[in-house]
Amino acid sequence: MTTASPPDPDLPVDLAVVGAGPCGIAVGAAAALAGIRCVLIDRGPLCASIVGYPWYMSFFSTPDKLEIERLPFVTEGKNATRLEALVYYRKVAEYFDLDVRTYTDVRDVRGSLGAFELDTLDRAGTVGVLRARHVVVATGGFHAPNRLEVPGEDLPKVSHHYREAHPFWRRRVLVVGGSNSAVEASLELFRAGAHVTLVHFGEDFDRGVKPWLLPDIRNRIEAEEIEVLWQHRVARISPEEVELRHEESGRRTRLRNDHVLALTGWKADPATLVALGVPVDPDSGVPVHDPDTMQTPVPGVFIAGVLVAGHDANRIFIENGRMHGRLIVDAIRRGA
Ligand SMILES: Cc1cc2nc3c(=O)[nH]c(=O)nc-3n(C[C@H](O)[C@H](O)[C@H](O)COP(=O)(O)OP(=O)(O)OC[C@H]3O[C@@H](n4cnc5c(N)ncnc54)[C@H](O)[C@@H]3O)c2cc1C
Repeated sequence: MTTASPPDPDLPVDLAVVGAGPCGIAVGAAAALAGIRCVLIDRGPLCASIVGYPWYMSFFSTPDKLEIERLPFVTEGKNATRLEALVYYRKVAEYFDLDVRTYTDVRDVRGSLGAFELDTLDRAGTVGVLRARHVVVATGGFHAPNRLEVPGEDLPKVSHHYREAHPFWRRRVLVVGGSNSAVEASLELFRAGAHVTLVHFGEDFDRGVKPWLLPDIRNRIEAEEIEVLWQHRVARISPEEVELRHEESGRRTRLRNDHVLALTGWKADPATLVALGVPVDPDSGVPVHDPDTMQTPVPGVFIAGVLVAGHDANRIFIENGRMHGRLIVDAIRRGA
């Protein structure tokens, strides 16, 4: 692949992509193949979301489903690990010679088709303005955790992230949530010698939990190796214990506790979309867009990746979000 000449800072680029996760990278790769000058800007490192995933996680998708523009993703096992994915997406960025500006936050966006301006701030405190004809917002869905909003949530023993099980050996851990993250963390923690209690407001696990995890977690619960409290919410957290409240009866249960892992999902950051005037459906959280082109009602503004799913975290993944790049680039080539 030939190397594109670096963008002239005085000229607007054809395309600015806010967010360099897998789906932002897919937009960049599609643009590179089409000869469209594109800059990607990320407030963190490349693929910041994957960087923050549990250290030893494996993707549920097979590697071919995570590939960008058919660049082969070869893995040691059947499923890619977090580390293999990070290596792969770095290689994609290098192969397509993407202009990625990492650790650069997009603070504001204004303008209209053909003349957008993105205000940026990098880690060194340097402010900049990037001019672009089109903008793609691919900022993902991992901006801020869904907080429990209970007293004690900001204690040091509470975390909304789970990285690895070792630090919790022989510790009493409350895992909050009923999704894949909560189930996978509970199983890993149990196997690393933690005393795990799982609490979820529902009557069962979320419908999106990977089917192959369910027999394992149900067997651990049946064997009383992992305790579970269905239809309960966390009411209060103190340094030594947690107080849980039954959904219907309001009955309170207090447990001795060392750590709380609140794995209750994350939400997107609407700031860039709001700045651009893109309407967002208040119920679903889905930004208004044409699914054939990914263009929003604001001409020249597109969305890509998991951000498109709104509040439904089970609808868009890398598997289908990576396809948005082609749709966007094709639309731009047709004159959108
Ligand atoms: C544990 C786990 C396992 C998963 N396994 C799979 C799987 O097997 N298969 C699959 O298809 N999907 C999987 N997913 C989902 C997948 O990781 C996400 O769908 C994917 O990260 C979405 O990519 P994205 O590019 O849309 O967003 P992200 O990867 O979240 O990237 C968004 C980027 O935007 C940046 N950003 C945000 N705001 C700004 C701003 N204002 N300025 C600049 N940059 C900004 C962020 O730093 C981030 O790097 C998994 C998710 C989790 C949590």
